[in-house]
Amino acid sequence: MSTFIARILMIAASVTHASASCAYGTHLSPRAEEGAPIEVNTFGYTGVIGPLNWAALDGGSANVLCATGKNQSPIDMVDGVFKTLTAADVKLQINDMPEGTEFENLGTTVEVVSKGGSLEVGGKTYEFKQFHFHLPSEHLDNGTSIAMEMHMVFQTPEEDIAVVGVFVDLDTGVAAAADAATAQVITPPAAKRDLGRHPHSRRGEAASAPRADSHLSAIVQLLTSSLATTTGTSSALLETVFSQVAEVASPGSVVKTQPLVMSEVVNTLLAGSFQSYSGSLTTPPCSEGVTWLVSTQKLKIQTATFEKVRSVIGFNARYPQNTPGFNNLLSVGAQSAVAAKAAAAVPAVPAAKI
Ligand SMILES: [Zn+2]
Repeated sequence: MSTFIARILMIAASVTHASASCAYGTHLSPRAEEGAPIEVNTFGYTGVIGPLNWAALDGGSANVLCATGKNQSPIDMVDGVFKTLTAADVKLQINDMPEGTEFENLGTTVEVVSKGGSLEVGGKTYEFKQFHFHLPSEHLDNGTSIAMEMHMVFQTPEEDIAVVGVFVDLDTGVAAAADAATAQVITPPAAKRDLGRHPHSRRGEAASAPRADSHLSAIVQLLTSSLATTTGTSSALLETVFSQVAEVASPGSVVKTQPLVMSEVVNTLLAGSFQSYSGSLTTPPCSEGVTWLVSTQKLKIQTATFEKVRSVIGFNARYPQNTPGFNNLLSVGAQSAVAAKAAAAVPAVPAAKI
């Protein structure tokens, strides 16, 4: 039997259950009893089970917010637009897992089950449930998609959900980052901005004849910013988890991880800040009221590791949603389709006879 048919049968077998990979292990999608089969997701990312049609899945109104919600995720994380939370505003603690934990394939993502931890933010205390991955990133980093995104899912006893989003990029090393910084100095960002602010200055002047001190300061600035966000080394936690990704290649499969040291990620996250907004789950049922904390820090993985993960996950990113508070893009699109149909129905004016 082909893997494709096997997967369809597996999906069909679990079609009566609501499923939500982003919320697996929360009240929205409770985890199966230990030893019971893992619930494989019924939605997908392409065609009629893809995000354009999530609202029609599950045969009812469970997923209606996917098409009508006005505070949907993911979105573009534009610098300076969002409320910034620093380590002083957030208390994050995650238990190490010396005995390892479950690493499983939910059909739409691969997920690591938590062994405890908490997030305190905005006067609420959330319990750490699981972390999973999207490929490519769902949120955009100033308009740019990153290789992957990790979602760390938390829930309060009152069933409020918070998700910490972390971009995961390819580890090109410190040397490569320094090379990139040096290359960019040929046209420093400061010079580009100057041209924009002074439209009457001669084109290219700032770029071709910058002052020596501005060059130097641009080099220092670029190197500093590169080193602040690029450790040049891949995440030991992610490399450890993904060393077993081939063992969970099939939907529904599960494996026990090696010991996991979570403090590495916690320390990395708390060394930066978080861009916060109120959004939704990025998977059905697209529930809103989710507190998002998107980290300004990036984790890194080796290119070979990324390729192994990609061969298992494939593609699982929902498209960027409208600005929070604005109409759902599917509603906007539906109106456009109606208008286009009406316009097409109007008989064309016959060409004037001369
Ligand atoms: Zn997710």
